[in-house]
Amino acid sequence: MIDLQEVHLSAVIDAVRANQRFLCISHVAPDGDAVGSLLGMGEILTMLGKEATLALADGVPDNLTFLPGAERVVSADGVGDVYDCIIVLDASSPDRMGNVYREDAHGKSPLVVIDHHVTNTYFGDVDWVEPRCAAVCQMLVYLAQRLGVSLRGNLAEDLLTGLVTDTLCFRTSNTTADVLGAATVLMENGAQLSAITARTLNNKPFRSLKLWGEVLPGARLAERVLWVTVAPEQLAAAQATAGDLELSSVLSAVAEADISATFIQKTDERKAPVVECSFRAKPGFNVSDTAFALGGGGHPAAAGCTVPGTLEKAVPPIVAQLQQARAQQATGQ
Ligand code: 5GP
Ligand code: MN
Repeated sequence: MIDLQEVHLSAVIDAVRANQRFLCISHVAPDGDAVGSLLGMGEILTMLGKEATLALADGVPDNLTFLPGAERVVSADGVGDVYDCIIVLDASSPDRMGNVYREDAHGKSPLVVIDHHVTNTYFGDVDWVEPRCAAVCQMLVYLAQRLGVSLRGNLAEDLLTGLVTDTLCFRTSNTTADVLGAATVLMENGAQLSAITARTLNNKPFRSLKLWGEVLPGARLAERVLWVTVAPEQLAAAQATAGDLELSSVLSAVAEADISATFIQKTDERKAPVVECSFRAKPGFNVSDTAFALGGGGHPAAAGCTVPGTLEKAVPPIVAQLQQARAQQATGQ
């Protein structure tokens, strides 16, 4: 059984027991672990007789609205000012909370961070960070067990969803026996693995395929780094949005590459050009250091960042950084 950060887990349990009104937040551009852990935390608090507001800056993505409790999630305009305690899930740094966290209103409340990113910046008053857990949803299995909360029903379904999406259905290199143990507990409590897989990983819109058709002819491979760029015109041609790309598991299955990347041209709130970068590494390679150095974060095998600039200017130096990191890692330097 995994050695948990007991001191920090106990501090989370104390904060849950001592407070009544919670604001729970997960990260911008939420994935299955963000939504699953947010809804799971909401279930745990509700079962303990607490009040919880569940907030996501970008709302629940369409493919996750099936999850029990998804209708409880509010965006910034549904977040109040006064809470006893704020719990942040699956966010490695404060910027990942987006506009649902307001320092002026919320800065006075204790901040509890529950996360599994190796790049976590420890920005809470309590920081329970377990990089050996494949998902925050795995951490919440242990938290529920410690709090004596039943996993049966909605909680099991929410938590297994995050485990399935963050491990690509138990295929990533961080899928340990403990991950499978947590998943088994959730299935024993009624979560349906095949239904969750069908509704998350095996549920891409046709326009994703059309977008792959637009961008894959431009795929490049050099020094065992594979990369794809996505321009706004290509999104328009496929009648797709950046969220439809979902190309990373395709790229990371290519035999000739150890590291893969997608770069999407976007603009920030001030309409300045930015490039959203998503990196993947094969077992034995690491992209979290590069992402962190570029102002982002993530895991050794999956990380990302957003940098200023255009594809033309921003991509070549980042590719060079990835190639250099890969070469160093290959020789064990
Ligand atoms: P993805 O490539 O699927 O968007 O993200 C892979 C991993 O990197 C996720 O764990 C995600 O949380 C992290 N990540 C992606 N973009 C950013 C970013 O801009 N900042 C931080 N801190 N983490 C990121
Ligand atoms: Mn996660």
